[in-house]
Amino acid sequence: MSEVPAYLREGYITPDELFKIIPKPSEERLRARPVAVPECPQEIPCAPCREVCPTNAISMPTPNDLPVVDYEKCIGCSLCVQICPGLAFFMVHYVGDKARITMPHELLPLPKRGEEVVLLNRTGESVGKGKIVTVVPREKSRGDTPILVVEVPLQLAWDVRAVRVER
Ligand code: SF4
Ligand code: SF4
Repeated sequence: MSEVPAYLREGYITPDELFKIIPKPSEERLRARPVAVPECPQEIPCAPCREVCPTNAISMPTPNDLPVVDYEKCIGCSLCVQICPGLAFFMVHYVGDKARITMPHELLPLPKRGEEVVLLNRTGESVGKGKIVTVVPREKSRGDTPILVVEVPLQLAWDVRAVRVER
């Protein structure tokens, strides 16, 4: 019997596990502009990310296949982050000694642009402070998930996947 992957046992996926499943964008690509990265390792019947992508950057031959992004086709529109019901899509952009992470955020209150927030890693632990760059609230007619762009230290680019608003 094959071994159960660690992400199924633990409930979260590490970057090392993720990049055994999908390719990691190159440093050059990460610095060029925001790039979408799916953290969706389970074969479930789901495909709204593929359907919403305006450049057909997301390949998924059947809805049970894993989404794989053609990083050169991705224009960083963030629609996949907003529509994913599993909160599994993120965008990453390296800017100098910081990284800007675009992430879904379903909790209220939404932070404000410029606000300092607590950075949380994949297990929900606090790993430092970051700054909100952009807030995109829910689009009521579509029911999308609100998203945030959060500036974090570059070395935390693949660790921070949520924030806590302290008010
Ligand atoms: S960010 Fe936009 S272009 Fe890039 S994969 Fe997502 S939907 Fe497609
Ligand atoms: S919409 Fe989200 S959960 Fe569904 S296949 Fe795409 S990345 Fe996975």
